[in-house]
Amino acid sequence: MRSDPAEYRLVSPGNLQAALSLLAGEPAQWLPIAGGTDVMVLYSAGKLPNRKLINIWNIPELRQIEVFPDRIRVGAACTYTALREHGIVSREFPLLAAAASWTGGIANQNRGTLGGNIANASPAADSLPALLVYDAELTLISVRGERRVDYRSFHMGYKQTALAADELIRDISLPRRFSGYVSHARKVGTRNAQAISKVCLAALGQIANGTIRDVRLALGSVAPVPLRLTETEHAFIGKRIEPSLIDTARKSVAQEISPIDDIRSTSRYRAAVAGNLVAEFLDKLAAEGANA
Ligand SMILES: Cc1cc2nc3c(=O)[nH]c(=O)nc-3n(C[C@H](O)[C@H](O)[C@H](O)COP(=O)(O)OP(=O)(O)OC[C@H]3O[C@@H](n4cnc5c(N)ncnc54)[C@H](O)[C@@H]3O)c2cc1C
Repeated sequence: MRSDPAEYRLVSPGNLQAALSLLAGEPAQWLPIAGGTDVMVLYSAGKLPNRKLINIWNIPELRQIEVFPDRIRVGAACTYTALREHGIVSREFPLLAAAASWTGGIANQNRGTLGGNIANASPAADSLPALLVYDAELTLISVRGERRVDYRSFHMGYKQTALAADELIRDISLPRRFSGYVSHARKVGTRNAQAISKVCLAALGQIANGTIRDVRLALGSVAPVPLRLTETEHAFIGKRIEPSLIDTARKSVAQEISPIDDIRSTSRYRAAVAGNLVAEFLDKLAAEGANA
């Protein structure tokens, strides 16, 4: 352990308003800590700059999954285990349930939260491509009030987000309109558990009269932010899935992404895998889409 606990202060207000007041009183001084699975890695490496931590793990409003006729609202401090075990999440948002099931190991899933994954803003985070294709919307809250932000515009650059220093992510809202879609999730990493993705995909699609009616593709670990492949999506609409389209898809994916070489993989490998994953999804959509 490279940090000295005596140098840190942790408070546990237990309610949302008290947590927000602390954040507002000294913006950028206090750091929220939910499951701690990212924060404690920094702490034990001696790289946690903030000395004041607010525990938000035990704030009831942040721990609920609420179901409405048109959407579900996931509290930001809901864990991967809560997501995996929720019937509606599993049935209607299988891409999110899949990402939850392969994020770290069981201990990590019992502590790690969806809000923490979003705020930590890693381009390799596993749940974020699913949020992109499901049109997630975030509620950000502070003593100044609350505001809604399309998740798509939340990540503004590498590790940069639209979150102000006095704000918390309160919840993640997901519209319930994708259950008729064919879905496909893949994580390519060194192994299935406890590995950061080299590339991960979340994809949704619908076929009508033999052609693609709608398609939604998002990739992680191929750009500074989790990436929705809008140009590739547009190129697919109204097309039949045949070998020439799959060739076009590989080229289009390669143009839209900007992967890097790093400790986990190379840019070339990531580009090849990204094209393969989209091709694999199109095969699945062709096979299952007519019956979905
Ligand atoms: C062993 C191990 C394996 C892992 N494997 C994976 C993996 O496979 N895939 C993957 O994507 N991630 C993985 N992670 C990373 C981590 O588990 C996730 O990012 C997790 O979702 C973080 O959630 P948390 O609640 O623990 O966040 P914390 O560590 O509590 O917080 C992370 C950041 O988010 C901020 N924050 C948390 N909640 C809020 C909120 N409601 N509002 C505003 N800011 C907030 C904190 O201030 C901090 O900056 C792994 C981590 C470990 C230690």
